[in-house]
Amino acid sequence: MASVRFNHVFKKFGDFTALNNLDITVEDKEFLVLVGPSGCGKTTALRCLAGLEDVTEGDIFIGENRVNDTPPKDRDIAMVFQSYALYPHMTVFDNMAFGLKLRGVKKEEINRRVNEAAGILGLEQLLKRRPRELSGGQRQRVAVGRAIVREPKVFLFDEPLSNLDAKLRVQTRAQISKLHQSLQTTFIYVTHDQTEAMTMASRIAVMNKGVLQQLDTPQALYDRPDNLFVAGFIGSPAMNFFDAKIRKADKEAFVEMNGFSMKIPANKAEKYMAYDGKPVIFGIRPEDIHNPEFLPSNINAAEVEAKVDIIELMGNEINLNLVSGTHNYVARVDPRTRFTIGEKVKLVFNMDNMHIFDPSLDSENPVA
Ligand code: ATP
Repeated sequence: MASVRFNHVFKKFGDFTALNNLDITVEDKEFLVLVGPSGCGKTTALRCLAGLEDVTEGDIFIGENRVNDTPPKDRDIAMVFQSYALYPHMTVFDNMAFGLKLRGVKKEEINRRVNEAAGILGLEQLLKRRPRELSGGQRQRVAVGRAIVREPKVFLFDEPLSNLDAKLRVQTRAQISKLHQSLQTTFIYVTHDQTEAMTMASRIAVMNKGVLQQLDTPQALYDRPDNLFVAGFIGSPAMNFFDAKIRKADKEAFVEMNGFSMKIPANKAEKYMAYDGKPVIFGIRPEDIHNPEFLPSNINAAEVEAKVDIIELMGNEINLNLVSGTHNYVARVDPRTRFTIGEKVKLVFNMDNMHIFDPSLDSENPVA
């Protein structure tokens, strides 16, 4: 069993709380991604798990074992860093073999493991080279290889793709996903990049300011963000937010924004009636705003008028920066319509995918 559990973990550096009651269970063989902005505590969480930092309060379990007092070398985990941390004077083979030699693993066993890892990672032809003779992507694979040969219970990755260019990042992302499938081991992966998190994770833990915001599958985080922070962090371009008010009229409910009013679909109205007259934040993703000619069928549509401010042609879609009254927002629309800057257009919000957030609750708490 290589499940991992952070049980109400606090980590303080002096007065500063880097991890605030972190409570996460990572299932055996799961690919969990910790994501959040710079400084939110992701690396600190990994370092506590690896035993490179002591926790201030709470427990960490690997499988059934509480490891708070277990030295790093006995935790049976391997970590891949952003910097790769390869030894420059050693060959690829020796870089991968080094940790095993230190542990007194027999030579034949070292050869077997290094060759097997080199095979998995396509490094067979590079085993005699030194790190300076490798590309960034190859170095990164050596760093992963060094972790694989340890045959650990848990793999930790700390932003391993940050030093790669955009194209290589996409390729390596896919390789790491495949590696997870073939090794069938628990992976915990830290990144600040929500796309990386969405594409690789079986579940994602979103963190902000040392506090876990939501732990869920990528799709659930996208469809049902618990709070404003998660809603704004997951999705690109980010969700649009509007200051709004809820107005109840008989059995119907409307969301009213400075300058326009939209009917809330019947199946959602009841949930938000309690907010009648109160300020809320209305959220809509750019991809849920459509040009009327290319509307998905069977949606609860609400029309808005807007002025086109900026046009970003993306090939398979267009990102429009729009202005309606005092609101600025982004729509991701079908590229078959031609838009011009300054043009007044009619667009449609898909109200089935709208979100309402309660601004009286801060971002660390759930919303309505
Ligand atoms: P990044 O994506 O930038 O690496 P992160 O989410 O991994 O960020 P951490 O490295 O975990 O963030 O740091 C969390 C907070 O704890 C930061 O504010 C950081 O300055 C602080 N911190 C980390 N290590 C120490 C330390 N040894 N002493 C004091 N403060 C620290």
